[in-house]
Amino acid sequence: MFGRPLWVILLLLLVASLVWWRVPADDGQLSRTALVMGTLVEIKAFDDEKDKLDSAISAAFAEMTRLENLLSRHNPRSEISQLSAAAGPFTVSQETAELLQLGQSIARRSDGAFDLTLGALKKLWAIESDSPQIPTAAQLQSALSGIGPDALTLEGLQVQKQQPGLQVDLGGIAKGYAVDRALNVLRQAGIRSAAVNAGGDIALLGDRQGQPWRIGIQHPRKNGEVLVTLPLTDCAVVTSGDYERFFERDGSRYHHIFDPRTGRPARLTQSVTVVAKDAASADALATAAFVLGPQAGLQLLEDLPDVEGLLVGADGRLFRTSGLRRGD
Ligand code: FAD
Ligand code: MG
Repeated sequence: MFGRPLWVILLLLLVASLVWWRVPADDGQLSRTALVMGTLVEIKAFDDEKDKLDSAISAAFAEMTRLENLLSRHNPRSEISQLSAAAGPFTVSQETAELLQLGQSIARRSDGAFDLTLGALKKLWAIESDSPQIPTAAQLQSALSGIGPDALTLEGLQVQKQQPGLQVDLGGIAKGYAVDRALNVLRQAGIRSAAVNAGGDIALLGDRQGQPWRIGIQHPRKNGEVLVTLPLTDCAVVTSGDYERFFERDGSRYHHIFDPRTGRPARLTQSVTVVAKDAASADALATAAFVLGPQAGLQLLEDLPDVEGLLVGADGRLFRTSGLRRGD
């Protein structure tokens, strides 16, 4: 190199510096985390322009926080809290109406295994609090009275509760919906490759630098161990398990996914993973299949177009829908 004229060396240095500036750190990937909806959310995206990535990810987090304020039962001013408090018909926003509609359609499709009206039951068990409790049979009966797919009716934006005291809880679907909306914000900002992960509710935009995203599914009984790795592109993958939020008493595990028929934690399943086009549907379907267990749960997923799933039964056996069965 030292034999070359000075201007050639300067030109090479100039070209090298231009290339350096055009390739952002870590191969164009930016990853950020934030606490939203009581969950650690990670957004990872790829683009050559770091500023664009940074502002798109900020906007995606802002969208999730906006939805938390709209849909959380932990926030007394949210639309969902106001709906739960309302004695008569209540008018909701277009997007809340659409989410309730989706939830109700999955509630019907799953014969009520997915249920948006379990708010009173959830409060009773208080599994996510510092002082969870095992309710009495009488308390369970009272919390279950009048719940189910017919307990809420929607006409346009107007929601009618069949009982004034009915408590709505979107804990089994709203996180997935928020993940979808966050991904949409990234898409609209011109990002072509991204992943939004809210504690196991994952939406994927495009692929990962020409390769499928490789999504590791957590083993429900071996902490930190991957059960199965799924290569996926441009879709959503959501896992519901009994190992994230639970307490143990007298050797029994009490977790946060309830069987609406008994009011107690569903007992047939350890975890369900659903792959679908959108995370809101995948979220609700994973909760529904968890309650239904290996037979009816897998059948529910198998019967739906563009939906696949894998389920770990209470005895640890792994079941897959036909689209996820390996050829071996
Ligand atoms: P999933 O299986 O997807 O859902 C389980 C949750 O769905 C339960 O927690 C319950 O809410 C509900 N559910 C239980 N059984 C059924 C059933 N049969 N049918 C339908 N739904 C059922 N957590 C906090 O600790 N603090 C917060 O401030 C907080 N804010 C939140 C705000 C929003 C808008 C949302 C959506 C969630 C929030 N969460 C918060 C988390 C929430 O309490 C649940 O833990 C979380 O949604 C469970 O998601 P999952 O993927 O683990 O389980
Ligand atoms: Mg769910």
